[in-house]
Amino acid sequence: MEQVVIVGSGPAGLTAAIYAARSQLAPLVITGSALGGQAASSSEIENYPGFPQGVSGAELMQLMQQQAERFGARVEMDDVQEVNLLRHPFTVRAFGAAWETRTLIAATGVAPRVLGVPGESRLKGRGVSYCATCDGFFYKDKTVVVVGGGDSALNEALFLTRFASKVYVVHRRGQWRAQKIAQDRALQNPKIQPVWDAVVTEILGDRQVTGVRISNVRTGAQSLLVADGMFSYVGNRPNTRLFKGQLELDEQGYIVTDRRMHTSVPGVFAAGDVQERTLKQVATAVGGGAMAAMEAEQFLAQMEGNAYPKREA
Ligand code: NAP
Repeated sequence: MEQVVIVGSGPAGLTAAIYAARSQLAPLVITGSALGGQAASSSEIENYPGFPQGVSGAELMQLMQQQAERFGARVEMDDVQEVNLLRHPFTVRAFGAAWETRTLIAATGVAPRVLGVPGESRLKGRGVSYCATCDGFFYKDKTVVVVGGGDSALNEALFLTRFASKVYVVHRRGQWRAQKIAQDRALQNPKIQPVWDAVVTEILGDRQVTGVRISNVRTGAQSLLVADGMFSYVGNRPNTRLFKGQLELDEQGYIVTDRRMHTSVPGVFAAGDVQERTLKQVATAVGGGAMAAMEAEQFLAQMEGNAYPKREA
């Protein structure tokens, strides 16, 4: 019987693991498909305190893992397939094993939203990518298109200028939404060419991306950008398939919690990007993870010798 199972290994999950481990609860972290979640694929994180020169997402997440393991957290590389939160103790089933647990922390984060245009799924891995740190290296002296106008799009476009000779940033409006510092850097970078008021309508190429068709949203004019790759950063969707019908979700599918990270099920907590209405930053995910672990500890202490609390109807 586990005391705490943490589903997800991004900043929220690993911080929850550090705190739960220091409370001597020997938490079990089930990583999901990749250790470190989305943060691990950020080329550089410049706004997480303690790293004045910035840190790569992969390095930061490895450090968090080491810190959690140092205090007794166990990190299991597996992907959870099913949870049952309708009965206590809860059950968690992954590919390799299944567990029973008294508390669960959902830190499953978000996944990139797809554009949903012709050519996208066919050319995924053949020029269509959602991860510049994973694939940017293949575009040395080539031309790439980045789609989106948020922090991810601009940060990763800037990262891609280390390799590519030209980076188009196609955005559906005439103004980016990213933080001002990233906007200024992008506008000053001679390799970056913004394409305003445009959406990608098709990705072209037979066996490899050769370009994208774009449409101007104001005029309807169609044009072609010749490019070797396309990186899409058009936002995210929550990874909550596991919890549907068991936890209260908001209309966009994010997990609803109170201010102390309690979900609609006693003993189940949520933190990080998967939680509704949080600022989506590593710093806030870390705070949420710490709070969730402390609340789990308190829940376990209150349960000692007591029955599992009745759920509200
Ligand atoms: P985001 O902030 O949701 O931005 C998504 C972008 O894609 C927006 O510019 C949006 O346009 C555009 N978009 C959405 N759907 C589209 C579609 N169908 N076609 C074309 N464009 C579309 O997502 P994100 O950049 O991945 O960031 C997610 C969260 O993480 C944000 O809260 C962000 O601040 C945070 N983050 C922070 C950092 C950092 O602090 N360094 C780094 C990465 C991410 P509109 O602008 O018109 O809506």
